[in-house]
Amino acid sequence: MSDRLLNQFTNVAKKALEASKYSTTLGMNMAEDARRLSRAEMNEEDFVRKYQGMVQKEFGKKMELAGIEETKDGPKWGMVIDLRKCVGCDTCTVSCKAENLTPPGISYNVVLVEEKGIFPNVSRTNTPRPCMQCDKPPCVTVCPVRATYKSGDGIVVQDNDRCIGCRYCMVACPYGARSFDFGDSYEGEMLGYGAMTAPDHGMDRGERKKGHSPIGTVRKCTFCFHRLQRGEEPACVETCVGDARYFGDLNDPNSVVSKMASEARAFRMKEEYGTEPRVYYLR
Ligand code: SF4
Ligand code: SF4
Repeated sequence: MSDRLLNQFTNVAKKALEASKYSTTLGMNMAEDARRLSRAEMNEEDFVRKYQGMVQKEFGKKMELAGIEETKDGPKWGMVIDLRKCVGCDTCTVSCKAENLTPPGISYNVVLVEEKGIFPNVSRTNTPRPCMQCDKPPCVTVCPVRATYKSGDGIVVQDNDRCIGCRYCMVACPYGARSFDFGDSYEGEMLGYGAMTAPDHGMDRGERKKGHSPIGTVRKCTFCFHRLQRGEEPACVETCVGDARYFGDLNDPNSVVSKMASEARAFRMKEEYGTEPRVYYLR
């Protein structure tokens, strides 16, 4: 898939950042260096040393080391998407929206469509794009308040109660996998909208009232972390019409995903960024 499709999100992220009250220049510079860190051209100590003063001035908080480490023990959740089997029906996008109750204009998962050739000799590739759950996530490096971090099983999660909505993570992500919640809602058109169970909607959480969406913060796919805790697969995997999505433990060499990820037709998006995505595609 050409980067052109992914890069459309770069502009959306930059516009969201420009609309924030925080420094766009600082955010863009931190994002660039966070990506250098993913490519091992910079280390985390140097990153924090370089930005500590500026972060303190902008956010009034001391920046700490993110301490991003490889998941060694326990499961390392990963996903494989077979592009030959994806029929482009967008069921994954819809089931994800329903599961995570994302607002209008925000989808944690999208299906990018690319057509090549001239009629009648055309080919079409449908490429679903969830969060890549990077092993070296620039979005985590850049967060000044450590509201986003890698959990024990390697999933990049978002603490919406800590997030201050600066949107630096959005411009750091090379995959356009993060969105800002501007407060739009389907509440007026969806019966039972307030009966959601997705955890980022303030269930059992601090100040946000039960059922309220995390307006003013950044939102992202978490491989349906709340479903995994119940022993269920992510909603997009469970509902995939083409049976194109596989989910499992990449630390287990005998798992289906491990075997598929080592197939000759396996690849990852933007490998050159050094982010080491845990979403693999089969071409
Ligand atoms: S997670 Fe929230 S606080 Fe952290 S960089 Fe993103 S927008 Fe800023
Ligand atoms: S794909 Fe996900 S984990 Fe990777 S940088 Fe983007 S938001 Fe972070």
